[in-house]
Amino acid sequence: MAFRDIIGQERAVRALKGVVNRENIPHAFLFSGLPGVGKKTIAIDFAKAINCMQRIENDCCEKCSACVRANSRNYPDLLIIEPSEQFIGIDVVRSLEEELSFPPLEGRRRVIIIDEADKMTNEASNALLKTLEEPPEGNVIILVAPEQAMLLPTIVSRTCHLRFQPLSDDVVEKILISRQFLDSNNAALVAKISTGSVERALKYVESRLLDRRQALRKRILEIISAAPGRMFEIATEWARESEMLLDDIDLLKMWWRDLIIYQLGSNNNLVVDAETIEAFKGILGKSSYTGLMKTYQLFDSIYTDISRRSNKKMAVERLVIGLRESVDEEDSWC
Ligand SMILES: [Zn+2]
Repeated sequence: MAFRDIIGQERAVRALKGVVNRENIPHAFLFSGLPGVGKKTIAIDFAKAINCMQRIENDCCEKCSACVRANSRNYPDLLIIEPSEQFIGIDVVRSLEEELSFPPLEGRRRVIIIDEADKMTNEASNALLKTLEEPPEGNVIILVAPEQAMLLPTIVSRTCHLRFQPLSDDVVEKILISRQFLDSNNAALVAKISTGSVERALKYVESRLLDRRQALRKRILEIISAAPGRMFEIATEWARESEMLLDDIDLLKMWWRDLIIYQLGSNNNLVVDAETIEAFKGILGKSSYTGLMKTYQLFDSIYTDISRRSNKKMAVERLVIGLRESVDEEDSWC
């Protein structure tokens, strides 16, 4: 991918295109922003634009041997460091220091991308600090992290800091249409659920979230009218599909947010999934604002439980009971 193919993040791309041609390219950058907003992709594009042999308007050509090899991660002057087993240790930074002491092999600059730089151990951060203080000639280091506060202030102060904004729904929608061939209705829905992260949107596309939407809707409607025995059977079936549970809870949160907006009678244009709200009209008739909020908070607590690998079946039983209570509130709470 080249800068010209990037949808969104115009400010960051413009800033990087502005320095790519310079003799004095800054030696260290920090790209901060939520996961899935394009930081690493743009870091790789920057590396390619710096070393491209036939640069076109401060962008890479995608055709020369440097671009082709960078795309297959086979270019000697592009190093991408990622955490192994959750962290980046001092050994990684030490071997990097050694490598940096040699000039770039082929390119104008050796570009080192440290992805998830917030996962550096304290020792690794302190070692890197020394490298950032006196960087050997010919190297550009790009740190990628969700927030600057996750790095030592002394590291941040030695970098040019570019903040990446969450992407707008429109941008995520365009990216989904251009790369994943979703039609515009489905792309709009997935974009809204993904709250500004392409990474999350692609995950939803891969897990066929939209296909499961119908089945999940049916399951919720069954829960709110089922006999108690059947409710626990549903919980057991649901818990078995452990892979998808967290995505299902994301969908439930979006639907309950929609129900709350609808219940409040506020701007219905803010409702994301109008088709589901139509199917859930029965829930709205039986739930108060407080009940809906209580169920929404329950989703958060169950999401955390499941992420922490607590007993899935019990967590789903709590979820099913909570969903049922949200419509039985007049009977059970008054
Ligand atoms: Zn090129």
